[in-house]
Amino acid sequence: MRSPDRWTLQIRIMIKSKIKIATTSLAGCFGCHMSLLDMDERLIALLDQVEFNRSPFTDIKHCGQCDIGLIEGGVCNAENVQVLREFRANCTTLVAVGACAINGGVPAMRNYFDLQDCLQEVYVRGSGVTHPQIPNDPELPLLLDKVYPVSEIVSIDYFLPGCPPSADAFLQLLQPLLAGQRPEIASTRLYYD
Ligand code: SF4
Repeated sequence: MRSPDRWTLQIRIMIKSKIKIATTSLAGCFGCHMSLLDMDERLIALLDQVEFNRSPFTDIKHCGQCDIGLIEGGVCNAENVQVLREFRANCTTLVAVGACAINGGVPAMRNYFDLQDCLQEVYVRGSGVTHPQIPNDPELPLLLDKVYPVSEIVSIDYFLPGCPPSADAFLQLLQPLLAGQRPEIASTRLYYD
């Protein structure tokens, strides 16, 4: 596990500049992002300390230099690999958030089947298909042979399990990180769905 650059965080805290956070959903359902928003009014206090960089909350398309990156979802295509590497290159501390990022989760259910069989079943043989054709637009990101946990592509500093992790678990992760400390999340806040 990579140790976070605490000096960067401590310096930001000392000069009271905001901590920069980036978030993304790879092969995920955005449920982890929704759970982050479940902090409700506690988000207001959080926003005094942080500013969001690339994130579905901002619609910024590329990850700039950030203190913390939160990754939701597994890695299912070439674009996911590119985004994940960009986060690793630019975020001091990278966190795998939720079951899909940690072990592939629901999207990884396709790993039990051949990729071509999956495509045939969905786009050609499936019930209700009226125009059978496997999409082949060159703009579509290339699918990987299977869905990978993010830690198989880049190094990850912390793991926050759950499907999704609760808002309280997010707080127990973020509050120490914002103070430049190592998070210790209570076992009662951790779920291995
Ligand atoms: Fe959605 Fe659960 Fe995966 Fe989070 S861990 S992206 S909530 S399926």
